[in-house]
Amino acid sequence: MFTLIKKGQVFTPKSHGIMDIFIVGDKIAMVAPEINIPYDIFTDITVLDADGLSVTPGFIDQHVHITGGGGEGGPATRTPEIMLSELTTAGVTTVVGLLGFDAVTRNIPGLLAKARALEAEGITAYIYTGAYQIPARTLTANVRSDLVLIDKIIGTGEIAISDHRSAQPTLAMLVKLAAETRVGGMLGGKAGIVHLHLGEGKTGLDLVFQALAQSDLPVTQFVPTHLNRKKNLLKQACKFVKMGGTIDLTAGIEPEKPSPDALNIMESLKLLIEMGISLNSVTASSDGNGSLPQFNDRGEITGISIASVKVLWTDIKKAIRAGVVTLEEGIRLITFNAANTLKLLPAKGIIAPGSDADLVLLNPDLEIDKVYARGRLMVDNGNAIIRGTFEK
Ligand code: ZN
Repeated sequence: MFTLIKKGQVFTPKSHGIMDIFIVGDKIAMVAPEINIPYDIFTDITVLDADGLSVTPGFIDQHVHITGGGGEGGPATRTPEIMLSELTTAGVTTVVGLLGFDAVTRNIPGLLAKARALEAEGITAYIYTGAYQIPARTLTANVRSDLVLIDKIIGTGEIAISDHRSAQPTLAMLVKLAAETRVGGMLGGKAGIVHLHLGEGKTGLDLVFQALAQSDLPVTQFVPTHLNRKKNLLKQACKFVKMGGTIDLTAGIEPEKPSPDALNIMESLKLLIEMGISLNSVTASSDGNGSLPQFNDRGEITGISIASVKVLWTDIKKAIRAGVVTLEEGIRLITFNAANTLKLLPAKGIIAPGSDADLVLLNPDLEIDKVYARGRLMVDNGNAIIRGTFEK
């Protein structure tokens, strides 16, 4: 019920120096330089000495195929469902689940059930309605009513553009979907964003720029992702940020994976800084449990593997260790910035009285040591101590 974390180096995500954090139930009750607890009032309190550890908000991964994805090479290439500990050991305490390429054998009811399962197992889970294709697959009559009526649905995604696997949407189709998502978000009190999958195609963000030029939709309506899959695409995304948009980078991408000129997170951040982009407009996600298919220039599949949620922190950590970004800047991408984009503040993405007690404790090597999700210790010494229903 009560947990007191003593003497951690606290990042809210702003660096606040050495602080104590008092957790009551699933919420943070107090953050102060020194908290002394009257033990006769607060009995049964767990005290954790966090001396030498950095304490950050729990990570938010806004792009995970929680029910699996893939299928580009037929049924045997469908990826499996994610397990709780794969998320928690990666520091992820809030996940946004989504469908991808396959919206025939995967559906929104299954996605919603999996989000509820993860929530019951201890973390926080949301979903996007839709999948690669437009018209979007939905749970109720349409995207708008999904957003208004289903608590866990906070946007539409991942809608594929500039990809041979997309539904090749026209400008009118994309604008209509974005408008429906916007109104649904407004009526439902949600972020109501369109999370866009950018593929290897030749048009990149062209359709998005046209949508913004020819409609009254604000630039914040679209959150494009996988932008680091090609250097030129990331450069094009700089224009989008300069118009006021927020972009999402995908961890696990490396040169040759998928393109010869793909950039990993560290190189992407370097390029964005060089281009004068504020990292406040940048987030990162893992594409966890999605498939990583490789295609030849005829569009034929030549190989396939599965993405891991772990790459999210691994890749950001590399950029921090190399001095490309500070620890504060690095964690901000997957805490405050993500919560801001998804309209989850102040419950998520920060450490403050009243926010959810989702915390990651990092050791001096920046390895994940402990993870709290809604006040519960899920990971200790890097190992999952709470496991999902069917995990051994
Ligand atoms: Zn994608």
